[in-house]
Amino acid sequence: MLLRIEDVDEGRARQSIADGQRRDLDWLGLHWDRETPQQSQRDYQPWLKALAPHTYACNCTRKMLKAVQGRCTCPQTQQGEGAIRFRLSAGETRFTDRRFGPQYQIPSKQPDPTLRRRDGVFAYNLAVVADDIADGVTEVVRGADLLEFTGAQVQIWQAFDATPPTWTHTPLILDAAGRKISKSEGGIGICALRDAGWTAEQVWRALLPWLGLSDASLPEAISRFNPAAGPLGPIQLRQAPGLHTQALDWLDTQVPTASRDT
Ligand SMILES: [Zn+2]
Repeated sequence: MLLRIEDVDEGRARQSIADGQRRDLDWLGLHWDRETPQQSQRDYQPWLKALAPHTYACNCTRKMLKAVQGRCTCPQTQQGEGAIRFRLSAGETRFTDRRFGPQYQIPSKQPDPTLRRRDGVFAYNLAVVADDIADGVTEVVRGADLLEFTGAQVQIWQAFDATPPTWTHTPLILDAAGRKISKSEGGIGICALRDAGWTAEQVWRALLPWLGLSDASLPEAISRFNPAAGPLGPIQLRQAPGLHTQALDWLDTQVPTASRDT
């Protein structure tokens, strides 16, 4: 297992956040074999250059893009001041997800992915594929909200002439109001649970039943984890069997007031 700090968006990249994430994983008992270079320390220019036959410079303004669902309507050039985008090829892209089964996606229904932003910052779409290839990643397990973008990502892998990894998309964990629990949505982090007195065991005990591993210890759960098994729909944390109700009540009070009414 590799640990990679994905901080390509420099606005969010702070060393203290990365240190906190390492501490949280360690506290949960999830250990990694090796840490790969952080995205903020890598050079993606050679990777972008390698994709040149598939890219174009887009000078559309934000307003123009908004009017046409993100599609480029400016005269496309090879070189330019604007953002660099990947030209998705038309037609079907097939791959198999270990949880959701065979997928037949038409990525070109979506806007062409941005690989380098107008301000020169490399985008996640490029960084994540380049990193996976450089790090020798063979297996990706991630949230189901990324499933619909996987076809486009497979096309970027193919443009690099590389073999995509196996994909497993897992349902998102939702709070009592049905929103995904994530930092970007104002959700609380693992460290907040720890500060509130949760034990690591309480956190993973809350999640293991969905994997059919209620009776397992954490080391057993890691070795018995089967990406193909488990639910397809979102997970409501409140429905976790045996989770301490007091802890859940406390969790509900952490929902940001602004979004609680929506
Ligand atoms: Zn454009």
